[in-house]
Amino acid sequence: MKRFFKSSFALLMTAGLLMLCGCSVKNIVQKDTVFALDTVIDLTVCAPDRKALTGAETALLNWEKKFSAADENSEIGKLNGGDPAALSAETLELLLDAVAIAEETDGAFNPALKPVVSAWGFLNGDYRVPPEEEIRTLLPLTDYRQILISDGQVFLPEGQQIDLGGIAKGWIGKKLAEDLSEAGVRSALINLGGNIHAVGTKPDGSFWRIGIKDPSGDGVAGVYLAADEAVITSGGYERFFEQDGITYIHILDPDTGRPAGSDLLSATVIGGDGTRCDGLSTALFVMGREKAVDFWRNRGDFDMILIMKDRILITEGIRDRFTPEGTDARSLEILTGSK
Ligand code: ADP
Ligand code: MG
Repeated sequence: MKRFFKSSFALLMTAGLLMLCGCSVKNIVQKDTVFALDTVIDLTVCAPDRKALTGAETALLNWEKKFSAADENSEIGKLNGGDPAALSAETLELLLDAVAIAEETDGAFNPALKPVVSAWGFLNGDYRVPPEEEIRTLLPLTDYRQILISDGQVFLPEGQQIDLGGIAKGWIGKKLAEDLSEAGVRSALINLGGNIHAVGTKPDGSFWRIGIKDPSGDGVAGVYLAADEAVITSGGYERFFEQDGITYIHILDPDTGRPAGSDLLSATVIGGDGTRCDGLSTALFVMGREKAVDFWRNRGDFDMILIMKDRILITEGIRDRFTPEGTDARSLEILTGSK
């Protein structure tokens, strides 16, 4: 009996040590960088070989091909071209998620904004400021409540088009994280151009240290300690163009069809569901501080970091996980009072 306890104890110790070392014995840290989804993607996977890593890369290129609104041959491209031909289960799932988030955010996140996004040139890079008249004619086409989804088929009213660019990276990152976990990976970091999905912790058992970009500088505004969750940021600094001294950002206010005049410089959403985090980060940015804080207080099922010119607001659930950094010191405000 004594010997049994002794060996059990030794086993537990070994298991503990193995867990601490994470990537020990046969697992090693595998890394790769690919350019896809119009951004730089860094994958870090702790696994015995590169199989999980290459599998993830193939999957993400495959999803990119289905979801891109800029590619008329993608599933979304065909739908936008008036062809309601069968969408794959994955595209349908993403579209349903997008519509649900549009409903939840009262249209601040709007997947039917493509005609307006295109008019500004944000889909192909041919930037321009559309005349007010043009925006006024396009806005009635962007009512997401008119997207009809029935029996796995999607029908769009004449002229309506879908752009899932504000949510697709969240969905893809979430799926990659799920697939890696299912393949037995216990430690991985998926970085889709600053949209982060953490599988487990770092191989040594410590948190992944995620730099939250300073929206008005080159460095970071703070560091967030992540484990098993998505950390997704939307900000005007990610894509924009300038004309006649005015900066036009790629996140649009669906009410006006013009770049969101947000008092936020960036909105980071942290939670278990990467798709929702991505949709919400775009929506909260559009809402601006006051509405974003109210939205969080009414839900409380996610955490957020809102960066303004002079302040960083964080929700109380992450006060021990976020540390402001950088020389450009902003004051830190802890948000409380959620449901
Ligand atoms: P990024 O893709 O740069 O990480 P977002 O997730 O905020 O940033 O998505 C921005 C993209 O979503 C834009 O490039 C555009 O294609 C689309 N978009 C812009 N405004 C909205 C909006 N209010 N709702 C939904 N999608 C939007
Ligand atoms: Mg988004």
